[in-house]
Amino acid sequence: MQKTPKSLRLQIGLFGRTNVGKSSFLNLVANQAAAITSPVPGTTTDVVEKVMELLPLGPIVLLDTAGLDDTGALGSERIRASRAVFDRADVVAIVCETQRWDGVEHDIIRQAQERKSPVIAIINKADQAPPSEEFIEAVRATGVDQILTCSSTDLERREDTLSEFKRALIACCPEDFIRPPPLIGDLLRPGGLVAMVVPIDLQAPKGRLILPQVMSIRDALDNDAAALVVKEREYAHMLANLRTPPDLAVCDSQVVMKMVADTPPDVKCTTFSILFSRLKGDLQEMARGAAAIDGLRAGDRILIAESCSHHAAEDDIGRVKIPRWLRQYVGMELQVDTYAGRDFPENVGDYRLIIHCGACMTNRREMLSRIQLARRAGVPITNYGICISLVQGVLKRALAPFPAALDAFNREQQKQRKSRA
Ligand code: SF4
Repeated sequence: MQKTPKSLRLQIGLFGRTNVGKSSFLNLVANQAAAITSPVPGTTTDVVEKVMELLPLGPIVLLDTAGLDDTGALGSERIRASRAVFDRADVVAIVCETQRWDGVEHDIIRQAQERKSPVIAIINKADQAPPSEEFIEAVRATGVDQILTCSSTDLERREDTLSEFKRALIACCPEDFIRPPPLIGDLLRPGGLVAMVVPIDLQAPKGRLILPQVMSIRDALDNDAAALVVKEREYAHMLANLRTPPDLAVCDSQVVMKMVADTPPDVKCTTFSILFSRLKGDLQEMARGAAAIDGLRAGDRILIAESCSHHAAEDDIGRVKIPRWLRQYVGMELQVDTYAGRDFPENVGDYRLIIHCGACMTNRREMLSRIQLARRAGVPITNYGICISLVQGVLKRALAPFPAALDAFNREQQKQRKSRA
């Protein structure tokens, strides 16, 4: 279980003032000194991540953040890092002391509500001063979903605290986490076959497949289907040798034009990136966003965002290929900025379009937060696979397995054509 990627774990953010016992609570749950604790306020500087298994919930990540009232020299920097955790926390846990629940706690609730994240209040240090019924009721009235009281330094009561924490988590665990959108299984029938076209080029990691490919193979097997994995050069030959065609063909976006050309018209096709756009984000929104590509003008600013900071190869997809294909498609010069990993600009309103990778390394919550940020700023957002399929003239084929997304694209394209006419 230690190997489960963080992107598939329930991410629980611990927020609160300095010195309320967030790190002690993390250590209590982890049953080890994973985070440094001290009576000195502001001991937690960077976000501390602890991966563990919490049965019966399964794999989780606890994210210990710096106090949101930190006034130290680096306070604002720490607070900025802590705030970024709101974007990825599936559950927001507010650690507080008895009888203190005002501005900071209200601000945390507001941040959680903006992202529709469930909130657990952890009233700590109950051994020093047990909370009054009035205080608990006042906390409940501010919109928290679950409340527990504990003393995070009382190791003798660890099991009680842990089971209360699990109870609270199970009671408010987001539906999206329990039942995420399907990856590929719903597109296959039991006993069916998916052909996966995987280029092994300079960008391919040595000796292994990448996460979207591995997860798709596993999902096909989980749904009692088979997966044929082949490079793009051998694909047509392999297809010709099959007695019955596959139910679905999926490829890396970079070879989508060739895959579509090689695949019989009655076989559904898509890309790994498009599959992940549905799993991690909102495929309809991303399909709608692609309609903005036809309306780009010279000098427009485009944001390309990737959820991991992999080593960029010479002909990198986000830094070189997509900017080149986009410029060729619109026939104009565009300003393209690329952001990677947790780095994501706050000023998304300065951009005409956001093109996001499949986000395999991040969780659904963080991707939905980015989509929400774009929506609020009125900036269309699309995805690598959708953008590449559009500029290579095969989008309708690549979106055909997802009729609602194709419809969203068609409607938005017509609307924008009318407004430009
Ligand atoms: S760039 Fe995006 S899709 Fe590609 S490996 Fe990184 S997180 Fe996954």
